[in-house]
Amino acid sequence: MHIDKYTDAILNCRFCFMCRHLSGIGNVAFTESDTPRVRASLLYGVTTGRIQLDNPDVIACLYRHDLSGACRRNCVKHFDEIGLNLAARADIVASGCAPASIQALADSLMQTARWTVDGSGEVLYFVDLYTQETGTVAAAFAKIMAKAKVSYQTVSGGCIGKGLKTLGYLPEAAAAAKQFAAVVEKSGAKTVVVSNPAAYDALVNDFPALGIKLAATVMHTSEYILSLALPWQNPQEVYYLESDFLRNYNSDLPAPHSLLQAVGAKNRPFGTNDEESYTCGEGAVLLPRIDASLVEKLAQYIEARADAPSTDRILVASPYTKLMLGKYTSLHVQTLEEFVAEAI
Ligand code: SF4
Repeated sequence: MHIDKYTDAILNCRFCFMCRHLSGIGNVAFTESDTPRVRASLLYGVTTGRIQLDNPDVIACLYRHDLSGACRRNCVKHFDEIGLNLAARADIVASGCAPASIQALADSLMQTARWTVDGSGEVLYFVDLYTQETGTVAAAFAKIMAKAKVSYQTVSGGCIGKGLKTLGYLPEAAAAAKQFAAVVEKSGAKTVVVSNPAAYDALVNDFPALGIKLAATVMHTSEYILSLALPWQNPQEVYYLESDFLRNYNSDLPAPHSLLQAVGAKNRPFGTNDEESYTCGEGAVLLPRIDASLVEKLAQYIEARADAPSTDRILVASPYTKLMLGKYTSLHVQTLEEFVAEAI
């Protein structure tokens, strides 16, 4: 079983409650089961045969996880409770126990694994489905590129494997990743730029783990815009909400903070601590389609922590988080691209 690779996490997390305060779903649902300790206890039961992985309550608990990575990042030994959860989902799928709703969601993702390439240039900008849905993020990037006089290609389309991997459909995720890699290679691009941190994590971590090596350099938009070294300033007071994928999955990628510093923004601390995830479940990629009520609760939890909800300028790296905060709160939210483009 896939979970057998995570014995360390199972054995250590099942007796530990140190990171319970960083359990996003546990904090909004007030459920002890939505913590690394109880999830590990359940999976320990699976390894001993006392709990079956086809138990609907266990399956529902495992698919409720927001996968922020906050617990793993702040764990003293960084036990991989995220890897454990993803492995358990893969075991559920491999044993034919995936709920019909999860199977239907995976089927719909597979249908989206098609991409269209437009434009010309050595930079290829990936417009994923969440970025498309904002209607404004790709336009902000276009404004920056026009001002910088850099021509570029766009590749637009659906799942490049991240969503399928998150649901536990590993062979299908690998197939989508290989198809997308072929499209990137064919474009001849030297740099691939992505706004969606989930796509960034897929390209820099998941693809190499699958043996897929892209010739192009992969950059998040914050890294790429910073590399342009343009002289714009936007000296506003802002609250930047960290991305799960950029911070917790990628060793605190410094580019978002460096970019804010470069444009003269004054970043103020948000909430009660700098360890929690304030992303509405970015790490879970598909939480709105698994249980939208949880995303609504996560969004309201964030809104309740704003100093002045009606006037604060909230910045995010993730188009997903912008969409969800826009849907469920009255907060004023921009992505990093939009904030920089505003200054042009
Ligand atoms: S991730 Fe670390 S802190 Fe959290 S339950 Fe596991 S061992 Fe404890």
